[in-house]
Amino acid sequence: MDLSRKLAILADAAKYDASCASSGTTRRDSRDGKGLGSTTGSGICHSYTPDGRCVSLLKLLLTNYCIYDCLYCINRRSSNVPRARFTVDEVVRLTIDFYRRNYIEGLFLSSGIIRTPEYTMEQVIAVAKKLRTEHHFRGYIHLKTIPEASVDLIAEAGRWADRVSINIELPTSVDLERLAPQKNFSAIDGAMGRIRQRIDAAKDEAQFKAPPFAPAGQSTQMIVGATPATDADILSQASSLYQRHRLKRVYYSAFSPIPDASSHLPLVAPPLVREHRLYQADWLLRFYGFEQKELVDPQSPLLDLGVDPKLAWALKNRHLFPVDLNKAPRALLLRVPGLGVRMVDRLVTARRWQALRIQDLARLRVSIKKVGPFVETTDHNPRHYGLDDDNLRARFAPPPEQLSLFTDSAPEASVYSGEL
Ligand code: SF4
Repeated sequence: MDLSRKLAILADAAKYDASCASSGTTRRDSRDGKGLGSTTGSGICHSYTPDGRCVSLLKLLLTNYCIYDCLYCINRRSSNVPRARFTVDEVVRLTIDFYRRNYIEGLFLSSGIIRTPEYTMEQVIAVAKKLRTEHHFRGYIHLKTIPEASVDLIAEAGRWADRVSINIELPTSVDLERLAPQKNFSAIDGAMGRIRQRIDAAKDEAQFKAPPFAPAGQSTQMIVGATPATDADILSQASSLYQRHRLKRVYYSAFSPIPDASSHLPLVAPPLVREHRLYQADWLLRFYGFEQKELVDPQSPLLDLGVDPKLAWALKNRHLFPVDLNKAPRALLLRVPGLGVRMVDRLVTARRWQALRIQDLARLRVSIKKVGPFVETTDHNPRHYGLDDDNLRARFAPPPEQLSLFTDSAPEASVYSGEL
């Protein structure tokens, strides 16, 4: 099989791995003339699959042969798909060629499991090692690791890769047992724990010039919608992983129905907006001080698909608003819909020097329509503008309306009816 055919098969097979960010790693480049590549410059080439996933052009599987039979996976042993396998040298050559053409920012390499987890891991590591040692490649490398592989092999992977990851796949051990009986929840969790220890140890020993270990940390991926697991289950697992193993990212991947699927799987994909809402909620957990139980709980275990989770929380907690933009603590400002972390920091700095007015928000390009009902300033009180009523949700997410061909569409209803 020629290389371009292999590339077509194995790049396509890798598109279900939703992790192509290279943030958070150490800054390296080769502008000093030594080596090749950079983790900081441009040259990132992403493409979007028709179902909205962001895929890096050189996101590859080493092979899509696999001895496992995870029911949700298109590459499972019993799947009837064309198979291919790269050699280590082929992946190295492709990476260098693509990098030189500025198509990619680095390599994301995963693999189906061939022969044994150990053997597979050795092959994946060989690619990264060759890139680093023989080609002095300084670009970003993300390696998928296999939890059943030995501790030494996982340590070796972290030595050459910027980021390592182990897919937890499903939010609960019951789900995993049902859909991927050859995988083991506690083995995955244990391997993540060991990676975390290695990362911590490498940071502690950095001053002694010890070799780095996965400086961009570890990440994982969960499939959404393949089982009845709720958003509460998913976010609870994500929250636990962030706390216990200090993961850099949890990626959420909406389940895509696959050909010849098992009867255990749903026939239709979940709405992509569910994946989007989970990412938004995940952001709130990591950067905005929210706890999982504030966003979803046993009584309402699903995120509101109609509005983003921060707005949904604010609408449920109207009694906490409006907050005084000039006096509220930073933690409360972070909970105002429409204010991001950077904007909150700018506002906290600015209000030291002068009282903030609503016009200042407009000047900072903050959406008054979104923020107006939730803040007060010296010249703005949402009560005066009727923005404190109970119908805010309808204003932010009006029910869809089928327009007639012959009537003008109604102008967008403005939440803010007063003068600015
Ligand atoms: S081990 Fe990975 S590649 Fe193999 S069937 Fe399971 S999910 Fe697919």
